[in-house]
Order: sequence, then C-alpha cells, then structure tokens
Amino acid sequence: MATLANSMGKLFPPRRLGRLRLLVQGSFFLYTLFIGLRFTLFYQWSLGQSEHYVARPPGVEGFLPISALLGLKSLALTGLYDHIHPAGLTIFLAALLIGLLMRKGFCGWICPVGFVSNLVERAGRWLKLQRRLPAWIAWELHGVKYLLLAFFCYIILWRMTLPQITAFQSAPYNLAADAKMLLFFLAPSRLVTVVMLCLVATSFVIPNFWCRFLCPYGALLGLLALIGPLKIQRDTATCINCQRCERACPGAIRIASKPRVLANECVGCLECVAACPVPNCLTLRAGLSHKVSPLLLPATVITLFLLCFVVALATGHWHSSVPPAELSKHYSQINNLPHPSY
Ligand code: SF4
Ligand code: SF4
Ligand code: SF4
Repeated sequence: MATLANSMGKLFPPRRLGRLRLLVQGSFFLYTLFIGLRFTLFYQWSLGQSEHYVARPPGVEGFLPISALLGLKSLALTGLYDHIHPAGLTIFLAALLIGLLMRKGFCGWICPVGFVSNLVERAGRWLKLQRRLPAWIAWELHGVKYLLLAFFCYIILWRMTLPQITAFQSAPYNLAADAKMLLFFLAPSRLVTVVMLCLVATSFVIPNFWCRFLCPYGALLGLLALIGPLKIQRDTATCINCQRCERACPGAIRIASKPRVLANECVGCLECVAACPVPNCLTLRAGLSHKVSPLLLPATVITLFLLCFVVALATGHWHSSVPPAELSKHYSQINNLPHPSY
C-alpha cells in the first residue's frame, strides 16, 4: 500500500491537489447551474410562459434535504423508496455513504454551496480580510449547526409518525418544493437577501462561516465522519512548524499541534497536504497506520457519488413518478399552497 501511495505521489505531486479540487468542485458547480437552468425552463413551460418543453431534471431535488430526511425515515420504516423526490433521497444517501467512508468528502469535493463558500474564502484570504476566531467562540458557534440538526431530527425522526410523513410527502406543498426552492434563489424576499448578503460578507472575514457553523447537513456528515477510517496524519519528527497547513485549512483546524486530525470538521479537502512544504510530513492514513495516496479520497468520493446515481437510475429510483401536468397545477398555485400540518 505504501509503495502504491509513493508511486501515485510521484505521478501526481501533492501541490496539485488544490487545483484538482477546484476542477472537481467547479465541474459539479457548473453541472448544478445547468440543472438549475433546465429546471427554470421546465418551470416556465409548466406556467405556460414558454411553449418549449424541457424535461424536469431530477437532480434539482438535491436541494430538498428535509424531503430527503422524510424519505429516509419512510424507507427505514416501510422499505419503500420515496417516489415523489427519489433523486433527492439518492443524493442524500450518497452523501451519507461518503460521510461514513471518506470523511466529509461530499462537502470538500461535491457540494456546490461548499464550492461557493470556498471561493469566498479564497477571496477573503487574497484580500487579507480573514481573521481567526478565538477558540472558545468558534467552539460555541459550532454548536449552532448541531442544534439545528437536533431540531430537524427531533421533528422528523422522533415526532412525525409514518402516516404524517406519508401525508406530507404527497401534499402539494412537498410536490412543489423544488419550485419553491427555485423562487428562493431567483426571487428572494428582502429578508432572505439581507441574510444572504450578511452571510457572504461574514464569510470574507471568517472563512466558510455557513459551512462551519450553520449547515445542519454538514453537521450530520461530520458526525458520520467521526467513525470513518481515513485521517490526516502529521509526522511530528519532520514537521518544521511552519503553520502553512493551518493557514490553508478551510475548517481552521489546529493541524500543526496534533499528530492526527480527528476533528469532525475535516472535509477531506487535502489543502493541508498540498500546502505542506515537507515531503510526506502530512499524509492520508487508512485505519491506524496504512499510508494511502491522497488521490484515493477524491477518486472514491466521485466514484461513490456516481455509483449511487447509476444504481438509482438503473433501478428506477431517480425519476419522480409525479407527471409534469400535476406539477404544473401545483406550481401555478405556488404562493397559496398550505404547509401540511401534523
Ligand atoms: S457544510 Fe453544508 S453547505 Fe457546506 S459543503 Fe457541507 S453540505 Fe454543503
Ligand atoms: S505545513 Fe507541514 S511542516 Fe508546516 S506545520 Fe504543517 S505539517 Fe508541519
Ligand atoms: S485538516 Fe486538511 S483535509 Fe481536513 S479540512 Fe483541514 S485542510 Fe482539509
């Protein structure tokens, strides 16, 4: 395994990992924009604003994590896959699987929101605006996303019964949730606009503010990553304590003071490995000692994600069973759809 890692290291030096990540993240981001464009065209057709029919892209359901969590509970209780937003559940399951095996690799390599957050972080670093929060404030702020996660888990996993979940899933509100999300981005309310601008402005100064402190999705993936096999390991004998790894880390993790990165905030981005000037000082380890090529992480993340997509497509768990005409009916009443009560 060590020989294979060395050969891979020669073929692809660690300093190029940052560029590779930008390429992978950028590709997923561009594909997400493509999905958004296709869905906008479908939405316009469904409202009669265009005669040109464009099929609804199922990938848009990746932006419906609440619906996915409902689908997950329903799947666990009944064995039945959500047929309203199956792609959303598939993407959620893929992220959970990646979280279990490859740290928060979904955050570090795939999530388009994470990509935007990383771009703002890079801009903040370039403009020399970034500040490191005192450890106790960062620790307290980390708790916010776990509180949000606990809230959603309490409501959906604990309180909602199966009949309530089934009723929610088939309610017009849930059927039109994708269009509501589209309008959230295309026509945000004044409050949403102000909150978004504040988040972006804060992220210039405090890197990845949303991802590190507020996103419950990332919090869940971080909890799963705690039991994952991969860790970044520092060779304390060769480390020159230059702190470059810490300056490069999007999670502001204290890498240079520990032999191993055990933090559940680690998104497996490998920026620390790319930044380290001492060869083989920071390495990726599987289990307690096996050194593996850093490329293993992004390669497995992408493979798992695409595998989940292909399996879902091949087994009929990707496309929604709701006909376009029915969606069209609900989209036309989008501002008057009541939130299902339970
Ligand atoms: S923390 Fe949330 S928004 Fe950020 S990259 Fe992860 S899933 Fe995406
Ligand atoms: S970048 Fe490498 S050498 Fe510098 S402090 Fe981090 S682990 Fe040590
Ligand atoms: S410890 Fe390394 S791999 Fe983990 S988030 Fe920080 S820079 Fe990325």
